[in-house]
Amino acid sequence: MNADLHCHSYYSDGLLSPTEVMRRAHAHGVELATLTDHDETAGVSEAHDEAIALGMRFVSGVEVSVSWGDDQTIHIVGLNVDVYDPVLSAGLEKVRSGRDARALEISEQLALEGIEGAYEGAMRHARNPALISRSHFARYLVERGMAKDVKSVFSQWLGRGKPGYVPHQWATLEQAVQWITGAGGIAVVAHPGRYWLEPREMEAFLTEFKDYGGRGIEVLSSSHNPDKVEIFADYARRFDLLASRASDFHAPGESWTDLGKLPDLPSNLKPLWSALI
Ligand code: AMP
Ligand code: MN
Ligand code: MN
Ligand code: MN
Repeated sequence: MNADLHCHSYYSDGLLSPTEVMRRAHAHGVELATLTDHDETAGVSEAHDEAIALGMRFVSGVEVSVSWGDDQTIHIVGLNVDVYDPVLSAGLEKVRSGRDARALEISEQLALEGIEGAYEGAMRHARNPALISRSHFARYLVERGMAKDVKSVFSQWLGRGKPGYVPHQWATLEQAVQWITGAGGIAVVAHPGRYWLEPREMEAFLTEFKDYGGRGIEVLSSSHNPDKVEIFADYARRFDLLASRASDFHAPGESWTDLGKLPDLPSNLKPLWSALI
């Protein structure tokens, strides 16, 4: 099954419309698709309609921003959620509402480094102003010639510990998992290989995630090299988590892996889609 269970549209920090994302997924052979914008489900119905028209299977999705432990930002993907669930909707709206003040702070930090007008510049890249994100700042800084590509902007300016980094309080892990499961969905740890967690912390995190009702983990991710795939396959087996396959596609040429272009899952795993279809 060519399932790709994580991607973005311009309702968050992707560059394509939900319709274009689904067409690209279909053209790449995806059989089971979703749309998982950051803290936002506004693009899901458009994606759903296009996916069905193309003959793909589709589940609704979202990627919730979470703060955990000592200033760690963790992303939790929710799949097959009821996007009209009032608790989920109110929770996501609350998470989105913090983004504007944070963006102003990022802009102030960058101004101290001599980069003026970053808030307005980033906003011009954000089709959905409620979802102003570091990706929009990154595209603006590339446009200004401050770095050669989006990835370099993060390592020079916007990543943790860099001049434009602003710590932020997102949802708690408990809230994110409860909103997702309360809306009938499955909570999945996004790109676990990206977090700065020692093995002991990862174990504590996964234990807590499961206690709240979390069920899945991205084993295949564009953020994972083959070593990380094996490491997180092992966590999935040890913690009895469903294994997901996730390109985290944002834009042609900008993403590490394109839609539907991931390898097969390692053996002895329970595929996440067995719980969806
Ligand atoms: P935000 O939610 O505003 O903090 O923005 C996070 C987004 O920035 C992620 O979802 C990615 O799309 C992007 N991002 C984070 N780190 C990197 C990186 N090292 N290279 C490229 N994009 C990144
Ligand atoms: Mn993103
Ligand atoms: Mn993410
Ligand atoms: Mn993502």
